[in-house]
Amino acid sequence: MFIPNSMTSNGLGRRTRRLFNRTNNNRKSCEMIIDIHAHITYGNFKIFSRLLGRKPFTVEILLKRMNSEGIDKSVLLPLINAEVLDYYGVAGNQECIEATRKYPDRLMTFCGIDPRSMMNYKKGGLSKLLAVYKKLGCIGIGEMCASIPITHRLYQNLLYVAGEENLPILFHFVSKTGLSYGAVDKLNLPGLEKMLGKFPKTIFIGHSPCFWNEIASVTDKERIGYVKGAIKKEGKLWRFMKNYPNLYGDISAGSGYIALSRDSAKCCKFIEKFSDRLFFGTDRFTSVDEAVPPQIGFLKESLKNKMISKTAYENITHNNFERTFHLG
Ligand SMILES: [Zn+2]
Repeated sequence: MFIPNSMTSNGLGRRTRRLFNRTNNNRKSCEMIIDIHAHITYGNFKIFSRLLGRKPFTVEILLKRMNSEGIDKSVLLPLINAEVLDYYGVAGNQECIEATRKYPDRLMTFCGIDPRSMMNYKKGGLSKLLAVYKKLGCIGIGEMCASIPITHRLYQNLLYVAGEENLPILFHFVSKTGLSYGAVDKLNLPGLEKMLGKFPKTIFIGHSPCFWNEIASVTDKERIGYVKGAIKKEGKLWRFMKNYPNLYGDISAGSGYIALSRDSAKCCKFIEKFSDRLFFGTDRFTSVDEAVPPQIGFLKESLKNKMISKTAYENITHNNFERTFHLG
């Protein structure tokens, strides 16, 4: 779909907004692509990002990129945890909800929640807040970046209500507190496994190097980086995916892309085996002219070369999303 370049810093004209809101009706539904991992930078307070020295990636820029890359719908992930708040100039809950109201046919949003919120000090304490966000249209929780152990009592309180409210949680995983951002877990993700078993009603969506590196046997030293190359021994993710139907993976960012492309035979086996548990995602928001996420070309090429089946392709690009989030 061609979108005229008529954006101004004052916002969009009504005609342009109508075009942005319309998904391409000529595309067959099997070609639908839904991005589960998108961010936008502050649009209501542009001077803030400018002073921070970050290039804007406003909702209008996201829509422009979606149109040129053939992405039909995106899920906005607010960043509100203390570790990431303001750091990237990424929009929070209110601005993401506003954006979905402006472009309801193209955008959906999760809500950002902090497990360290005082409301979460007792089990069930977050129920009211989650109900409010659900009422406002939020369909999941994340990107979860709070840097405390995944087994922490406060995470457990949140995991419980998320299951009760039927809100999947998208996690960034990290190896240590105070290193960067994300739920903390040890090598081989024993905490995640424990929580998957303890909260079977809660859908966990994994993301980040510490999650995806577990596709292969990995060392403590390697796990925080981008591990490339042959998968000599299957890692924990194979067993987790098999044993826990509430575990999903988001293939966004360098971590997701490398995990699914580092060893074509093994990776395609993983994709085929667990294609009903993978979501397409991009996780990029640096500027209007950044590179096209490699996941798009990878999936299309793999389908064309018969490395993955049409069922797997459609599961990842949209079917899993529609099923999990009860759309369509
Ligand atoms: Zn992200």
